[in-house]
Parts: sequence; structure tokens; C-alpha cells
Amino acid sequence: MRPRAGSKALIREINEALVLDVVRAHRPVARAKIVAETGLSPATVTGITARLLGAGLLAETDAVRSTGGRPARLLDLGTDAVLAAGVRVSDTDAYVVLVNLRGDVVASHQEPLTSTRPQDVGTTVARAVALASASRESATLIGVGVAVSGVVDQQGGVVRHSGSMGWENVPLQQQLTALMGTPVVLDSYVNALASGLLLFDDRLTGRNLMIFSVGASLGASVVVRGRIHRGFSGTAGGFAHSRVGLETGRPCHCGAEDCLETRASYWGIQREYERRGTKPGSLVGRDDDVVASAADSLGTAVANAAKMFGPERIVVAFTPEMNVPALTSRTEQVFRRQYAHGTTPPPALEIAVTGPSSHAAGAAYTVLAQMFTADSTSAADVTSAPGTVTAG
Ligand SMILES: [Zn+2]
Repeated sequence: MRPRAGSKALIREINEALVLDVVRAHRPVARAKIVAETGLSPATVTGITARLLGAGLLAETDAVRSTGGRPARLLDLGTDAVLAAGVRVSDTDAYVVLVNLRGDVVASHQEPLTSTRPQDVGTTVARAVALASASRESATLIGVGVAVSGVVDQQGGVVRHSGSMGWENVPLQQQLTALMGTPVVLDSYVNALASGLLLFDDRLTGRNLMIFSVGASLGASVVVRGRIHRGFSGTAGGFAHSRVGLETGRPCHCGAEDCLETRASYWGIQREYERRGTKPGSLVGRDDDVVASAADSLGTAVANAAKMFGPERIVVAFTPEMNVPALTSRTEQVFRRQYAHGTTPPPALEIAVTGPSSHAAGAAYTVLAQMFTADSTSAADVTSAPGTVTAG
């Protein structure tokens, strides 16, 4: 946790986060609405909004005339003063986006990787962020979110396992913080996606959800009452390496055999083609029993996970390379068949397609989220580290 300057500073930080969160949820908003929603006194709200306006975190709209009253200016989130960066690291490149407080992507940059050695990746990420930020020199970068495929211990800042990067226990957060001099938050691809959904879709606030990502690797995010459940050492949502059967001869990159990853990830499907002596490659136009078997495994695993956790909504996000109807439609059909039990209605299932920019933006939203919440215990803290805006 962050060192606290004292109880007065702490209360001010919490109150600022409360005010920002009301503006985020109701923007543009009148000061009176902030008073009503936060329970703070009008004088306190006036003081806080003045500080936040001064720091560029808030902006005033043009005056609007409310019925019968004098013209009032509403408050909205600022767009220029404060930005967060999000980086999606893959084995080929670092894809960076910059987002403003409203969540709009204002810049992006893709930087190829020379190798997957953590030191080289760190240097490339730092360069990519610097290049993306070059045109925005007047803005303050409040932090950098970094999404890596695999098992990520967000609290410890360590990538526990990443098959695509060939990493075990890489302390990437510490390394990147030292390189960039900016607070860094690590997360998995799928938790980064979940963070974005939770921050910008108010229908999901406080809900129980499961988000699955299906791409080069598989992932799952378990959201309990609006918060990502991380489990011991970041291992919650260990969907990729749940065992499907006892079949040997399907080695997984985690060291085990016959994980779901070996059947339903892009990586696993390619290995299965090789195993059968079929040429691996793009799934476009394929509708064979390898793809069908991937959908069967995936639909069944999603249904079993849903029965275990009881989410009211499920999102299955396919990367573009996996977005073929033979896979997506069949996964949905298998899910419905496998979930069916008694008269219990199934959770709402949404099939989505997400690319590198969704993971990168999600990583940036993990940083932004900490501006809007007084309780930051689910993530490394960024709001009081060097380079951040602290109003006042
Ligand atoms: Zn495995």
C-alpha cells in the first residue's frame, strides 16, 4: 500500500475519487448532483471541484439554463491534462494506446519486439510508450498498464507464467517502473478486458460476471459483485490449464498434459493439426473436426465454470484469428446444451471480437480505474507515485 501523508491527505484523496466517480457515472453533471450523490457538504464539493478543475481532471461545459434558474455550468471529465497508457505485450510487438479520463483512445503506436527476453521487452515497452506520448508533452501520464497473456500476480507485479512469452516468474512491474519512472500496473489480457467493461459499462456495476478470452492462449476473468476476483497469487480464472481429460501425448506449455489450452487455444489448435499431420495455419474457411472439437471443449468448459460461479452474464471474447463461425457459433450452441439443467435459465452469453487495441485499452483502464475509486486494494497503487497529478 502507499505510504500515507496523514489522515487529512487521505480524506482528501478519497473525497476527490468520490467526486470523480460521480462525474464519470453522470457526466456532464451539476455540482448539486455531486453533493447529493456523495453526501459531502456543498463547500467541500466546491473546494474539491476547484482543485480538480485547476489540475485539468475536470472541465466545465458551456453554460446551460436550467428551468427557471440562472445559467449553470456543468462538470465533465477533462480530456487533455491527464492520460493513461496501456500496453499489450505479445511475442511479436508492444501495442500502446493512450486514453484520456473519458476512456477515449487519443494515440496509439506499435513497436516490434526484437526478442522475448524480459530485459528486451522492457526496453521496447518503454520506447513504445515514449513514442506514443511524444505528441502529448503537455499532458501528465498518470501510469502505464501492461497486459500480458498468462497468469499474472497483479499485487506482486509478477508474470507467473506466460506460454506465449516463454516466461516464468518475471518481475516485470519492478523492471518497467525503474525504466520508465512512472507507476506501472500489470495484468493479464483477460483481466484487462474485464477492467474496461467494469469501468465503462454501468450496467455491470456490482454484478457477477465471467469473461473468457479465446486467442493464442485462453483466459478467464471472474468478477464477483463488480470486482475482479484474483485468487491466491493471481491464479483465479485458471481456465487455460484446467484439465480436459487424461489423454497423454498432448503436452501443454505449462508442463502438464491435456489442458484445455491444448484443445481450444489458437496455439493448441495449431499443435493438433501438426499432431494429425495436417498443415497448420489460418482458421479462415476451416470447418473440420479439430475446430469442432475445440468448440466442444470450450463450450463445455464455459458451461461448467458458469455452473460453479453463477454469473448473470458471460462474455466470450475471440481474437480476430479465432473469429470463425465454425468455432464461435458452435461454442455458443455447446454452451447452451451443456449448461441446461432443470428450469434454471442460463446466464446471458455475449460473443465478442477483441483485438490488440482492446487489450491495450483495457490495460490503460486498469490505471484509470484507480482515479475513480477510493478503495484501491485490488491493484498496485498509482495515485500518489511520482509523476502523478495530486491536486491541491
Ligand atoms: Zn497447461
